[in-house]
Amino acid sequence: MKILLLGSGGREHALAWKIAQSPKVEKLYIAPGNAGTHAAGENVDIKATDFPAIKDFVLKNGVEMIVVGPEDPLVKGIYDYFAADEATRHIAVIGPTKAGATLEGSKEFAKGFMQRHGIPTARYKSITAANLEEGLAFLETLEAPYVLKADGLCAGKGVLILPTLNEAKRELREMLGGMFGDASATVVIEEFLSGIECSVFVLTDGKNYKVLPVAKDYKRIGEGDKGLNTGGMGSVTPVPFADDVFMEKVRTRIIEPTVNGLIEEGILYKGFIFLGLINVKGEPMVIEYNVRMGDPETESVMLRIQSDLVDLLEGVRDGNLDTKELVLDPRTAACVMLVSGGYPEAYEKGKVMTGLEQAAATDSILFHAGTALKDGQVVTNGGRVIAVCSYGNTKEEALQKSYHVADLISFEKKYFRRDIGFDL
Ligand code: ATP
Repeated sequence: MKILLLGSGGREHALAWKIAQSPKVEKLYIAPGNAGTHAAGENVDIKATDFPAIKDFVLKNGVEMIVVGPEDPLVKGIYDYFAADEATRHIAVIGPTKAGATLEGSKEFAKGFMQRHGIPTARYKSITAANLEEGLAFLETLEAPYVLKADGLCAGKGVLILPTLNEAKRELREMLGGMFGDASATVVIEEFLSGIECSVFVLTDGKNYKVLPVAKDYKRIGEGDKGLNTGGMGSVTPVPFADDVFMEKVRTRIIEPTVNGLIEEGILYKGFIFLGLINVKGEPMVIEYNVRMGDPETESVMLRIQSDLVDLLEGVRDGNLDTKELVLDPRTAACVMLVSGGYPEAYEKGKVMTGLEQAAATDSILFHAGTALKDGQVVTNGGRVIAVCSYGNTKEEALQKSYHVADLISFEKKYFRRDIGFDL
């Protein structure tokens, strides 16, 4: 089969690495890809949201399946775009319809969906300029800290957690006044939940589902989870607190009501569901839905899937995922992200990377995130540069291997956290 994978980050390199291992794959294209993905397939210079160009490409090249990495093409309706056209209807898009992608595209919709299907989540109210007074009154009923979320996509920046009631009221007005443009014309106010978070990934054909390895990611730039939010500084799987008892609750209270809720609401969903969960005294609650895999969780999760991912994706396409086998590697996988100094604020690109060959000779696996090829050399090309992923019989062993390799790779102003997995 010929497959086109959309996206250009570490997540996509990890997906490309896994897809390329399948004997079912005749050819893998990645659009636009990065300096790492070309080792797993052929990079194609097309933006992941340029639907007409993607259509031309897949028709010319006989692509039969499109795997969507990032959320943007899904929220913009890539599934519907291909399904609506006679010429492209036979091409399987792995990802939800536009209606399904609203679980990520609108926090108001996601909260309403959870409420309608009895899925445990924080108490909330959805507010626009028209019912601002109601929002201010709801804030008075909550305790500090206060959680305000822009309804629409804000590249991970649309959530504010505020220590005092006055700040929460002021920021609510600011958000409704256009702080995040249209994305914050509606704001979801939520009760703050205290606990430890984890990411649960589900693959569904719209009826059957498989639970992929559970991971924990580390979002803040500084050690001890301090400082600014980033796209993710590392990840570990499995997560010891997500044990059988916890996961049974996740299945019965969250995953099944989600899959069944989508069916009840007539929403076609064939793809990955990412559940951002928080463990509140042993009880799983949903913080957010994403409609694709997470980054940098995918980088460690893919290491632990032993089964043929393409076989599972065929199950998604054909609606027979229940007949497919998902075998997991029992070892721990840990990923450490090397970033450009200054990130997530201003940083420089174009720094020559050395030590990649030495790193590749170890048994760690490198997934490129923000790299490019320039005059035959690999250079940095983003804030998050490269993910170093390793297996271990314990979390400590996996991390030790990743840190060893992280030290082998050099580029000016390289930075990484040395405490990934500290709270597990
Ligand atoms: P991202 O894209 O970075 O995952 P997002 O912008 O989609 O984030 P959320 O995941 O909903 O937004 O929230 C971001 C972070 O804020 C969460 O990972 C969590 O740490 C914190 N958070 C969100 N809602 C709550 C809540 N109700 N209680 C406590 N913390 C929360």
